[in-house]
Amino acid sequence: MKSLKTQLIEALQPLSDRDYDLIEQALDFAEQAHQNQIRKTGEPFINHPLRVALLLAQMKLGINAVMAGLLHDVVEDTNITIKTIERNFNNEVAFLVQSLTKINTIKYQQEGKGEEKELDTDKENFRNMILAMAKDLRVILIKLADRLDNMKSLWVLEPTKQKIKALESLEIFAPLAYRLGLTDIGAQLEDLSFPYVYPEEYKLTRKIVGRKREELESYLKSIVPLVEKKLKENNLTPLKIKYRAKHLYSIWRKLQKEDMDIKRVYDLVAMRIIMPKTEDCYAVLGIIHQMWKPVPGRFKDYIALPKPNGYQSLHTTVFSEHGRIVEIQIRTKEMDEEAEWGIASHWMYHETKQTKIYQKKKQFIPPKSFYWIKQLQEWQKTFYNSNQFLESLKIDFFKDRIFVLTPKGDIIDLPEGATPIDFAYQVHTEIGNQASGAKVNDKLVPLNYHLKSGDVVEIIVQKGKLPSASWLGFVKMIETKKKIEEILRRKKLL
Ligand code: MN
Repeated sequence: MKSLKTQLIEALQPLSDRDYDLIEQALDFAEQAHQNQIRKTGEPFINHPLRVALLLAQMKLGINAVMAGLLHDVVEDTNITIKTIERNFNNEVAFLVQSLTKINTIKYQQEGKGEEKELDTDKENFRNMILAMAKDLRVILIKLADRLDNMKSLWVLEPTKQKIKALESLEIFAPLAYRLGLTDIGAQLEDLSFPYVYPEEYKLTRKIVGRKREELESYLKSIVPLVEKKLKENNLTPLKIKYRAKHLYSIWRKLQKEDMDIKRVYDLVAMRIIMPKTEDCYAVLGIIHQMWKPVPGRFKDYIALPKPNGYQSLHTTVFSEHGRIVEIQIRTKEMDEEAEWGIASHWMYHETKQTKIYQKKKQFIPPKSFYWIKQLQEWQKTFYNSNQFLESLKIDFFKDRIFVLTPKGDIIDLPEGATPIDFAYQVHTEIGNQASGAKVNDKLVPLNYHLKSGDVVEIIVQKGKLPSASWLGFVKMIETKKKIEEILRRKKLL
């Protein structure tokens, strides 16, 4: 087995001599600082920051993030101060380390005051982390890498701690990873938490799945030559054909929707065809549909209508050889990288550009599909209480998303179960306040209607009208509730 350091250096290639020296310096510093510290697993402490740094290097986040990964626990867990970090490393590294430390210091001061207090400060920490994330996205990416590595050794903790950490990962960190488009990290966090949070369901799911994923994968492999031959006849050459096995936690969620019938989970393993250009994807889709009949209602064009987190791909489900139902996903290499690494992939391609903007504005400018990060920064200011903030975050930002359209075709991204009133307040507070009716796809609907992805929503306003207190009973978003309550209170109606 290659040492972690060797793996790290390999993942960082190409690496200039200057950058190599910087990495060595950060690693030596961290090694010295954590000298004699042993993790609960019995291994030397330094392995943990090394693995975190390795993951960041794989995400192609750049040299400063990797250095910060190596140093992320130094200030928190040793007696080295942030001043010393500032003296030894550049501003960016120091800022990242400090942001990651702040998140935890409050908790340390409070420790020993009982579990409940610790949970509260965790919530406050989380809010700080979200704030730091809006300023520099790498803060949250490092935190996710840190959490993922810690989750892999969850077994060393005592059962109550295991459950707390697992629940936090499942309810906060995994959804956050998904919203940032880090699909693989989100899936790993879910599967690592699953057995601790829902032990019975976990066992049941494993039993139901059995070896079905392996079987399906070998079946898919057996039909690939048929696909390749047909594509070749049409002068199409895929860059790659891969298989993606659905992870256990998401199978369990799907099973609940499908009456626990595994035969109805068609995407247990999906075939993924990677093409050079977008137009090739549509050409491949046409050929697949000529070879095998599509299952009605299962085709999704996320290229023309990307998911709110920026995900792009064509998905189709077909009756393949002998009527066997399989899911096929078609996308370009860029889409594939973005699907796995999400926002980090934007960093990969634009690192130099980002670094320049960063140096000028001292802020990370997210790509368009991630504007919600900026929204988050503004929006969190309206919460004074970190409990409410966290609840709102879970519902307003992390719940499964739908996207609906304004009559002009602008996309508004909402949590599942959102109503026309939630939509109206997202468009503009005044539209929300004065809403008197709603049309979805040109038909009048009640204001408590549950919107679906792709709906075109038009709000009918009545000038000078005020919101009704009854709306509080059905609106989905905490943010909507707050806005309604605010105006009703102002008008002394509540
Ligand atoms: Mn750590």
